[in-house]
Amino acid sequence: MQQILIDGQKQNIEQIAQRLPSDVEVYSQMYALEMGLNKAIANRTTGKTLVWVKRNDGTNSIKNLVPSDRAAITLMFLLRSPLNTRVYVIGDRYFVICGKFLQVKGQRLGLLFVAQDISYEQQMFSSLVQSLGIVSLVALVIITVAIAIYIRKSLQPLRRISQLAESISVNDLSQARLHLHRAPTEVKELAHTCDKMLDRLAEAWEQQRQFVGNVSHELRTPLTIVQGYLQSVLKRETNLTPTQREALETAAMEAESTIRLLQDLLDLARADAGYLHIRLEPLVLNDLVVEVATMAMQYRSRITLETTSKQILVKADRHRLKQVLLNLIDNAVKYSDPHFAIAIVLDLNVENALIHVCDRGLGIPLTQQHLIFERFYRIDEVRNRSSDCGLGLSIVKTLVDSMGGSVTVRSKLGEGSTFTVTLPSAA
Ligand code: ADP
Repeated sequence: MQQILIDGQKQNIEQIAQRLPSDVEVYSQMYALEMGLNKAIANRTTGKTLVWVKRNDGTNSIKNLVPSDRAAITLMFLLRSPLNTRVYVIGDRYFVICGKFLQVKGQRLGLLFVAQDISYEQQMFSSLVQSLGIVSLVALVIITVAIAIYIRKSLQPLRRISQLAESISVNDLSQARLHLHRAPTEVKELAHTCDKMLDRLAEAWEQQRQFVGNVSHELRTPLTIVQGYLQSVLKRETNLTPTQREALETAAMEAESTIRLLQDLLDLARADAGYLHIRLEPLVLNDLVVEVATMAMQYRSRITLETTSKQILVKADRHRLKQVLLNLIDNAVKYSDPHFAIAIVLDLNVENALIHVCDRGLGIPLTQQHLIFERFYRIDEVRNRSSDCGLGLSIVKTLVDSMGGSVTVRSKLGEGSTFTVTLPSAA
């Protein structure tokens, strides 16, 4: 654009330079040559166009030059030889200039210079460029912000998908769905696919639950009969060889632990289906804890009990609560050194009864503490026996939850663990 502007001015001054010799010829027919030259120069000189001739003797013939126009004066003294049309910058002034020999009637009068002051146009052009720059910058910022807002809005549904994927559990597989109405088509398609995947997962989970429930139920009955026979053979037969007795005892033990596992699976399947039978009744927790501790002490002598003199009344299922505490005591024994005692502590706070089962055993890494209540979760193979299957704590949690309580763990690796069962006080 600047080039177009300059080219226009160049043409203008070149035309003046071309015509001036003929102007001089015309004027010199009426006046003397010197006078004719001055008249021709005066004729072509305007506010912005400067025309002057540098004579052979070094003097300048010029019209209408404002004496304070320092830039024009400098230009005049600076230029001494012919030059092709070009832009000259003097201070903050811009000129387009051309210079060539002035020949009239075969006589060389000197060097003719024509200069056009383009400072104003140049200034206008610079401020135009500046304004354009500012406008473009503002437009760029607005467009960037608009794009960022649009992308953020478009990606919001993706955040919902990721939140759902992170928080979903088997219990809400059948309900959790993404209903996105205002989202880009591709994201809507993704949400639809996710919903379909959740449908299939919910269906598969339901089938698996039913399958586990059915298999556990079908296996438990014959296995209980087998175990009954084994126990009665072990009791009645007196003429068994030591090897036969040992084999039968091992078989009975394995049958018993498998029956317990099947019972746990059955309980979990029932809880999932909402059929777990819980009979809540008012009971004195002090008595129940003493009963459980006494039972546990028969097999595991290192149990200590701390209870309060105040009677603590709760509403719970006696049989299930015993199962919970025995499970926790069993774990405390399994995962701690035989030299260390296991403490059962009964406590009461404002609204709740608390039963702590404390050991000074292996402890549980912090990162895994929230995982141990999940089904089949075991910390590592080294600390577990082959008969352990990682169901104990999920049963504990399911039972305590269904009695309206909660179970938590505090543990430090290498120092021990405390499992706390909290039940709402009924007093
Ligand atoms: P398991 O039948 O394998 O004991 P649980 O559900 O009872 O299954 O326990 C899950 C995991 O938690 C176990 O594999 C065990 O590593 C860890 N754990 C449970 N109780 C304790 C405890 N008192 N001390 C250390 N680790 C424990």
